Amino acid sequence: MRVHVLGAGIVGLACAVELVERGHDVTVVDRAPGSGASHAAAGMLSPAGEAWHGESALHALAVASAGLWSPYAAGLGVPLHDSGTLLVGIDAGDRQEVERQAELLATHGEQVEVLDGRAARALEPSLGRVTAAAVLAHDRAVDPRAVVAALLAALGPRVVAQRPIVGPDATVIATGARLPAPYAHLVRGVRGEILRLRGDVGLTRVLRGWVRGEPVYLVPRADGELVVGATSEEHDGPPVVTAGGVRRLLDAATELVPGLDRAELCEALARDRPGTPDNRPLVGPTGDDGIFLAAGHFRHGVLLAPLTARLLADAVEGAAPDPLLDPRRFSLLEDRC
Ligand SMILES: Cc1cc2nc3c(=O)[nH]c(=O)nc-3n(C[C@H](O)[C@H](O)[C@H](O)COP(=O)(O)OP(=O)(O)OC[C@H]3O[C@@H](n4cnc5c(N)ncnc54)[C@H](O)[C@@H]3O)c2cc1C
Repeated sequence: MRVHVLGAGIVGLACAVELVERGHDVTVVDRAPGSGASHAAAGMLSPAGEAWHGESALHALAVASAGLWSPYAAGLGVPLHDSGTLLVGIDAGDRQEVERQAELLATHGEQVEVLDGRAARALEPSLGRVTAAAVLAHDRAVDPRAVVAALLAALGPRVVAQRPIVGPDATVIATGARLPAPYAHLVRGVRGEILRLRGDVGLTRVLRGWVRGEPVYLVPRADGELVVGATSEEHDGPPVVTAGGVRRLLDAATELVPGLDRAELCEALARDRPGTPDNRPLVGPTGDDGIFLAAGHFRHGVLLAPLTARLLADAVEGAAPDPLLDPRRFSLLEDRC
Protein backbone atom coordinates (compact mmCIF):
# COMPACT_ATOMS: atom_id res chain seq x y z
CA MET A 1 0.00 0.00 0.00
CA ARG A 2 1.04 3.59 -0.53
CA VAL A 3 0.80 5.24 2.93
CA HIS A 4 1.25 8.89 3.88
CA VAL A 5 2.08 9.57 7.54
CA LEU A 6 1.42 13.16 8.61
CA GLY A 7 3.70 14.09 11.51
CA ALA A 8 7.28 13.07 12.27
CA GLY A 9 7.16 12.90 16.06
CA ILE A 10 8.10 9.68 17.82
CA VAL A 11 4.64 8.22 17.16
CA GLY A 12 4.42 8.99 13.43
CA LEU A 13 8.02 7.90 12.87
CA ALA A 14 7.58 4.63 14.77
CA CYS A 15 4.44 3.89 12.73
CA ALA A 16 6.26 4.75 9.49
CA VAL A 17 9.22 2.47 10.24
CA GLU A 18 6.89 -0.41 11.14
CA LEU A 19 4.94 0.07 7.87
CA VAL A 20 8.19 0.17 5.86
CA GLU A 21 9.35 -3.05 7.56
CA ARG A 22 6.06 -4.66 6.48
CA GLY A 23 6.78 -3.75 2.87
CA HIS A 24 4.57 -0.70 2.38
CA ASP A 25 5.51 2.37 0.34
CA VAL A 26 5.66 5.08 3.03
CA THR A 27 6.11 8.86 2.90
CA VAL A 28 6.25 10.92 6.12
CA VAL A 29 5.22 14.57 5.78
CA ASP A 30 6.40 17.15 8.32
CA ARG A 31 7.93 20.63 7.91
CA ALA A 32 9.72 20.37 11.27
CA PRO A 33 10.42 16.69 12.04
CA GLY A 34 10.95 15.83 15.69
CA SER A 35 10.17 19.35 16.91
CA GLY A 36 6.95 18.62 18.85
CA ALA A 37 6.37 17.04 22.25
CA SER A 38 8.90 14.31 21.43
CA HIS A 39 11.64 16.98 21.55
CA ALA A 40 10.67 17.87 25.12
CA ALA A 41 9.89 14.44 26.55
CA ALA A 42 11.97 13.07 29.40
CA GLY A 43 11.70 9.56 27.98
CA MET A 44 10.59 7.70 31.09
CA LEU A 45 9.31 4.23 30.24
CA SER A 46 7.41 4.11 33.45
CA PRO A 47 4.26 2.01 33.67
CA ALA A 48 4.57 1.75 37.47
CA GLY A 49 5.39 5.40 38.16
CA GLU A 50 2.64 6.55 35.79
CA ALA A 51 -0.06 4.17 37.09
CA TRP A 52 -3.17 6.12 38.14
CA HIS A 53 -6.39 5.08 39.84
CA GLY A 54 -9.11 4.45 37.27
CA GLU A 55 -6.61 3.90 34.44
CA SER A 56 -6.04 0.15 34.68
CA ALA A 57 -6.67 -0.36 30.94
CA LEU A 58 -4.01 2.22 30.10
CA HIS A 59 -1.67 0.61 32.64
CA ALA A 60 -2.02 -2.75 30.87
CA LEU A 61 -1.13 -1.11 27.53
CA ALA A 62 1.82 0.65 29.17
CA VAL A 63 3.13 -2.63 30.59
CA ALA A 64 2.74 -4.30 27.18
CA SER A 65 4.64 -1.52 25.39
CA ALA A 66 7.34 -1.38 28.10
CA GLY A 67 7.93 -5.06 27.37
CA LEU A 68 8.73 -4.23 23.75
CA TRP A 69 11.31 -1.57 24.51
CA SER A 70 14.49 -3.66 25.02
CA PRO A 71 14.51 -5.20 21.53
CA TYR A 72 13.12 -1.98 20.06
CA ALA A 73 15.94 0.17 21.46
CA ALA A 74 18.53 -2.45 20.52
CA GLY A 75 17.20 -2.48 16.95
CA LEU A 76 17.60 1.30 16.77
CA GLY A 77 21.02 1.25 18.45
CA VAL A 78 19.79 3.48 21.29
CA PRO A 79 20.79 2.71 24.92
CA LEU A 80 18.16 2.16 27.63
CA HIS A 81 18.60 3.48 31.17
CA ASP A 82 17.70 0.39 33.19
CA SER A 83 18.91 1.10 36.73
CA GLY A 84 15.27 1.46 37.82
CA THR A 85 13.33 4.32 39.34
CA LEU A 86 13.09 5.56 42.92
CA LEU A 87 9.78 7.06 44.02
CA VAL A 88 10.40 9.56 46.83
CA GLY A 89 8.56 11.96 49.14
CA ILE A 90 9.64 14.77 51.47
CA ASP A 91 6.88 15.57 53.99
CA ALA A 92 4.05 13.52 55.54
CA GLY A 93 1.69 14.26 52.64
CA ASP A 94 4.34 13.24 50.10
CA ARG A 95 4.95 10.05 52.08
CA GLN A 96 1.23 9.27 51.73
CA GLU A 97 1.57 9.71 47.96
CA VAL A 98 4.42 7.17 47.92
CA GLU A 99 2.35 4.76 50.03
CA ARG A 100 -0.73 5.28 47.83
CA GLN A 101 1.31 4.48 44.71
CA ALA A 102 2.69 1.33 46.36
CA GLU A 103 -0.87 0.25 47.27
CA LEU A 104 -2.09 0.92 43.73
CA LEU A 105 0.76 -1.13 42.27
CA ALA A 106 -0.10 -3.98 44.65
CA THR A 107 -3.58 -4.07 43.05
CA HIS A 108 -1.78 -4.61 39.72
CA GLY A 109 0.20 -7.50 41.24
CA GLU A 110 3.44 -5.54 41.69
CA GLN A 111 4.69 -5.65 45.28
CA VAL A 112 6.69 -2.53 46.17
CA GLU A 113 8.27 -2.01 49.60
CA VAL A 114 8.11 1.49 51.13
CA LEU A 115 11.51 2.46 52.58
CA ASP A 116 12.42 5.19 55.07
CA GLY A 117 14.70 8.13 54.27
CA ARG A 118 17.84 6.46 55.58
CA ALA A 119 17.32 3.37 53.39
CA ALA A 120 16.60 5.64 50.42
CA ARG A 121 19.86 7.57 50.94
CA ALA A 122 21.76 4.28 51.20
CA LEU A 123 20.54 3.60 47.65
CA GLU A 124 21.05 7.15 46.35
CA PRO A 125 23.52 9.11 48.55
CA SER A 126 22.84 12.34 46.62
CA LEU A 127 19.29 12.53 48.02
CA GLY A 128 18.27 15.31 50.41
CA ARG A 129 15.88 14.92 53.35
CA VAL A 130 13.39 12.45 51.92
CA THR A 131 11.19 10.56 54.36
CA ALA A 132 9.88 7.77 52.16
CA ALA A 133 10.88 5.94 49.00
CA ALA A 134 9.93 2.95 46.89
CA VAL A 135 12.01 1.16 44.27
CA LEU A 136 10.24 0.71 40.93
CA ALA A 137 12.74 -1.80 39.59
CA HIS A 138 11.21 -2.22 36.13
CA ASP A 139 10.64 1.45 35.19
CA ARG A 140 13.31 2.54 32.72
CA ALA A 141 14.14 5.52 30.50
CA VAL A 142 15.41 6.34 27.04
CA ASP A 143 16.53 9.55 25.35
CA PRO A 144 13.60 10.41 23.02
CA ARG A 145 15.79 12.70 20.90
CA ALA A 146 18.13 9.77 20.20
CA VAL A 147 15.13 7.59 19.32
CA VAL A 148 13.73 10.22 16.93
CA ALA A 149 17.15 10.65 15.30
CA ALA A 150 17.48 6.87 14.81
CA LEU A 151 13.95 6.59 13.36
CA LEU A 152 14.61 9.53 11.00
CA ALA A 153 17.86 7.90 9.88
CA ALA A 154 16.02 4.61 9.23
CA LEU A 155 13.48 6.44 7.05
CA GLY A 156 15.99 8.62 5.18
CA PRO A 157 14.50 10.35 2.11
CA ARG A 158 11.00 9.05 2.90
CA VAL A 159 10.61 12.09 5.23
CA VAL A 160 9.55 15.17 3.25
CA ALA A 161 8.17 18.65 3.92
CA GLN A 162 5.31 18.63 1.37
CA ARG A 163 2.65 16.03 0.64
CA PRO A 164 3.47 14.13 -2.57
CA ILE A 165 1.24 14.83 -5.57
CA VAL A 166 0.29 11.18 -6.00
CA GLY A 167 -2.45 10.35 -3.49
CA PRO A 168 -2.11 7.49 -0.97
CA ASP A 169 -4.16 4.36 -0.28
CA ALA A 170 -4.04 5.24 3.41
CA THR A 171 -3.23 8.35 5.44
CA VAL A 172 -2.05 8.17 9.05
CA ILE A 173 -2.55 11.39 11.02
CA ALA A 174 0.13 11.59 13.73
CA THR A 175 0.36 15.34 14.24
CA GLY A 176 0.53 15.26 18.05
CA ALA A 177 -1.42 17.90 19.95
CA ARG A 178 -2.83 19.62 16.84
CA LEU A 179 -5.04 17.42 14.72
CA PRO A 180 -6.45 18.76 11.45
CA ALA A 181 -10.21 19.11 10.89
CA PRO A 182 -12.48 17.25 11.28
CA TYR A 183 -10.60 15.56 14.15
CA ALA A 184 -9.21 18.62 15.96
CA HIS A 185 -11.68 18.40 18.87
CA LEU A 186 -10.35 14.95 19.86
CA VAL A 187 -7.03 16.28 21.20
CA ARG A 188 -6.19 19.21 23.47
CA GLY A 189 -2.78 20.61 24.39
CA VAL A 190 -1.58 20.17 27.98
CA ARG A 191 1.50 22.31 28.42
CA GLY A 192 4.57 20.72 29.97
CA GLU A 193 7.70 22.69 30.89
CA ILE A 194 10.94 20.77 31.31
CA LEU A 195 14.60 21.57 32.02
CA ARG A 196 17.87 20.05 30.89
CA LEU A 197 20.88 20.43 33.16
CA ARG A 198 24.38 19.07 33.06
CA GLY A 199 26.62 18.04 35.94
CA ASP A 200 27.74 15.07 37.98
CA VAL A 201 25.34 14.87 40.93
CA GLY A 202 25.93 11.14 41.43
CA LEU A 203 22.37 10.04 40.72
CA THR A 204 22.07 6.51 39.30
CA ARG A 205 18.30 5.93 39.27
CA VAL A 206 15.48 7.97 37.78
CA LEU A 207 13.81 9.90 40.63
CA ARG A 208 10.09 10.60 40.69
CA GLY A 209 8.55 12.22 43.65
CA TRP A 210 6.61 14.85 45.51
CA VAL A 211 8.08 17.83 47.30
CA ARG A 212 5.37 19.24 49.58
CA GLY A 213 2.77 18.18 47.05
CA GLU A 214 4.71 19.40 43.99
CA PRO A 215 5.33 16.48 41.61
CA VAL A 216 8.80 16.41 40.04
CA TYR A 217 11.15 13.95 38.37
CA LEU A 218 14.86 13.80 37.55
CA VAL A 219 16.13 11.59 34.74
CA PRO A 220 19.92 11.08 34.63
CA ARG A 221 21.50 10.18 31.29
CA ALA A 222 24.78 8.37 30.75
CA ASP A 223 26.37 11.46 29.16
CA GLY A 224 25.82 13.64 32.26
CA GLU A 225 22.55 15.24 31.15
CA LEU A 226 19.87 15.55 33.84
CA VAL A 227 16.28 16.13 32.77
CA VAL A 228 14.02 17.81 35.33
CA GLY A 229 10.29 17.89 34.71
CA ALA A 230 7.61 18.66 34.34
CA THR A 231 4.81 21.15 34.83
CA SER A 232 1.33 20.36 33.58
CA GLU A 233 -1.22 22.97 32.61
CA GLU A 234 -4.33 23.05 30.44
CA HIS A 235 -4.17 26.15 28.25
CA ASP A 236 -5.14 27.56 24.87
CA GLY A 237 -2.10 29.68 23.98
CA PRO A 238 1.30 28.68 22.60
CA PRO A 239 3.41 26.47 24.90
CA VAL A 240 5.86 28.96 26.41
CA VAL A 241 8.28 28.53 29.32
CA THR A 242 7.21 30.56 32.34
CA ALA A 243 9.38 31.98 35.14
CA GLY A 244 7.10 30.35 37.71
CA GLY A 245 7.33 26.96 36.01
CA VAL A 246 11.13 27.02 35.99
CA ARG A 247 11.27 28.20 39.60
CA ARG A 248 8.91 25.47 40.84
CA LEU A 249 10.84 22.75 39.00
CA LEU A 250 14.22 23.95 40.27
CA ASP A 251 12.98 24.44 43.86
CA ALA A 252 11.52 20.92 43.98
CA ALA A 253 14.42 19.22 42.20
CA THR A 254 17.15 20.88 44.32
CA GLU A 255 15.30 19.94 47.49
CA LEU A 256 15.34 16.30 46.37
CA VAL A 257 18.97 16.44 45.18
CA PRO A 258 20.78 19.43 46.77
CA GLY A 259 23.91 18.90 44.62
CA LEU A 260 21.84 19.94 41.60
CA ASP A 261 22.44 23.54 42.68
CA ARG A 262 25.89 23.40 41.05
CA ALA A 263 24.70 21.87 37.75
CA GLU A 264 24.70 23.91 34.57
CA LEU A 265 21.21 24.87 33.39
CA CYS A 266 21.34 24.20 29.65
CA GLU A 267 17.79 24.34 28.37
CA ALA A 268 14.22 25.20 29.35
CA LEU A 269 11.52 24.05 26.98
CA ALA A 270 7.74 23.84 26.80
CA ARG A 271 5.61 21.67 24.55
CA ASP A 272 2.01 20.52 24.49
CA ARG A 273 1.21 16.96 25.46
CA PRO A 274 -1.57 15.63 23.24
CA GLY A 275 -4.42 14.90 25.71
CA THR A 276 -7.66 13.08 24.86
CA PRO A 277 -10.96 13.18 26.80
CA ASP A 278 -10.21 9.80 28.47
CA ASN A 279 -6.36 10.07 28.46
CA ARG A 280 -6.12 7.06 26.14
CA PRO A 281 -4.50 7.42 22.70
CA LEU A 282 -6.36 7.29 19.40
CA VAL A 283 -4.95 4.45 17.30
CA GLY A 284 -6.91 3.05 14.39
CA PRO A 285 -9.40 3.95 11.67
CA THR A 286 -11.50 7.09 11.75
CA GLY A 287 -14.31 5.59 9.70
CA ASP A 288 -13.42 8.02 6.90
CA ASP A 289 -12.13 6.14 3.89
CA GLY A 290 -8.41 5.31 4.27
CA ILE A 291 -7.82 7.74 7.16
CA PHE A 292 -6.25 6.53 10.40
CA LEU A 293 -5.21 8.27 13.61
CA ALA A 294 -2.09 7.64 15.70
CA ALA A 295 -2.38 10.52 18.15
CA GLY A 296 -3.41 11.65 21.62
CA HIS A 297 -0.65 9.86 23.54
CA PHE A 298 -0.67 12.47 26.32
CA ARG A 299 2.02 11.65 28.94
CA HIS A 300 2.96 8.30 27.41
CA GLY A 301 3.88 8.77 23.77
CA VAL A 302 7.47 7.58 24.17
CA LEU A 303 6.50 4.59 26.28
CA LEU A 304 3.65 3.60 23.94
CA ALA A 305 5.44 4.20 20.61
CA PRO A 306 6.48 0.58 19.85
CA LEU A 307 3.05 -0.84 20.69
CA THR A 308 1.28 1.95 18.79
CA ALA A 309 3.38 1.25 15.70
CA ARG A 310 2.33 -2.41 15.68
CA LEU A 311 -1.36 -1.73 16.35
CA LEU A 312 -1.52 1.06 13.77
CA ALA A 313 0.15 -1.06 11.08
CA ASP A 314 -2.25 -3.92 11.89
CA ALA A 315 -5.19 -1.51 11.50
CA VAL A 316 -3.89 -0.15 8.16
CA GLU A 317 -3.66 -3.77 6.99
CA GLY A 318 -7.30 -4.32 7.92
CA ALA A 319 -7.21 -5.74 11.46
CA ALA A 320 -9.89 -4.65 13.93
CA PRO A 321 -8.49 -1.95 16.24
CA ASP A 322 -8.11 -2.39 20.00
CA PRO A 323 -11.45 -1.06 21.32
CA LEU A 324 -9.58 0.79 24.10
CA LEU A 325 -7.77 2.88 21.50
CA ASP A 326 -10.30 2.93 18.64
CA PRO A 327 -10.76 6.62 17.66
CA ARG A 328 -14.42 5.87 16.90
CA ARG A 329 -15.13 5.56 20.67
CA PHE A 330 -15.62 9.34 20.43
CA SER A 331 -17.98 11.19 18.15
CA LEU A 332 -16.00 12.18 15.08
CA LEU A 333 -18.79 14.46 13.91
CA GLU A 334 -18.35 17.54 16.10
CA ASP A 335 -16.02 19.47 13.77
CA ARG A 336 -18.26 18.82 10.76
CA CYS A 337 -21.19 20.83 12.13
C1 LIG B 1 7.48 17.98 29.15
C2 LIG B 1 7.05 16.64 28.62
C3 LIG B 1 7.59 15.50 29.17
C4 LIG B 1 7.19 14.24 28.68
N1 LIG B 1 7.76 13.11 29.20
C5 LIG B 1 7.39 11.89 28.74
C6 LIG B 1 7.99 10.72 29.24
O1 LIG B 1 8.87 10.77 30.11
N2 LIG B 1 7.58 9.51 28.74
C7 LIG B 1 6.63 9.41 27.77
O2 LIG B 1 6.28 8.29 27.36
N3 LIG B 1 6.05 10.52 27.26
C8 LIG B 1 6.40 11.75 27.73
N4 LIG B 1 5.81 12.88 27.23
C9 LIG B 1 4.72 12.74 26.26
C10 LIG B 1 5.30 12.55 24.87
O3 LIG B 1 6.23 13.56 24.62
C11 LIG B 1 4.19 12.62 23.82
O4 LIG B 1 3.12 11.77 24.15
C12 LIG B 1 4.75 12.21 22.47
O5 LIG B 1 5.92 12.94 22.18
C13 LIG B 1 3.73 12.42 21.37
O6 LIG B 1 4.39 12.12 20.16
P1 LIG B 1 3.71 12.50 18.77
O7 LIG B 1 4.58 11.95 17.72
O8 LIG B 1 2.26 12.09 18.81
O9 LIG B 1 3.66 14.10 18.77
P2 LIG B 1 4.81 15.18 18.54
O10 LIG B 1 6.11 14.74 19.08
O11 LIG B 1 4.24 16.45 19.08
O12 LIG B 1 4.99 15.26 16.97
C14 LIG B 1 3.99 15.79 16.15
C15 LIG B 1 4.65 16.18 14.85
O13 LIG B 1 3.62 16.57 13.93
C16 LIG B 1 4.08 17.66 13.16
N5 LIG B 1 2.90 18.32 12.61
C17 LIG B 1 2.01 19.14 13.22
N6 LIG B 1 1.04 19.51 12.37
C18 LIG B 1 1.31 18.91 11.18
C19 LIG B 1 0.67 18.87 9.91
N7 LIG B 1 -0.47 19.52 9.70
N8 LIG B 1 1.23 18.13 8.92
C20 LIG B 1 2.38 17.43 9.12
N9 LIG B 1 3.02 17.42 10.31
C21 LIG B 1 2.51 18.15 11.33
C22 LIG B 1 4.92 18.48 14.11
O14 LIG B 1 5.89 19.26 13.40
C23 LIG B 1 5.59 17.38 14.96
O15 LIG B 1 6.87 17.04 14.43
C24 LIG B 1 6.21 14.15 27.66
C25 LIG B 1 5.70 15.32 27.11
C26 LIG B 1 6.11 16.56 27.57
C27 LIG B 1 5.55 17.80 26.94
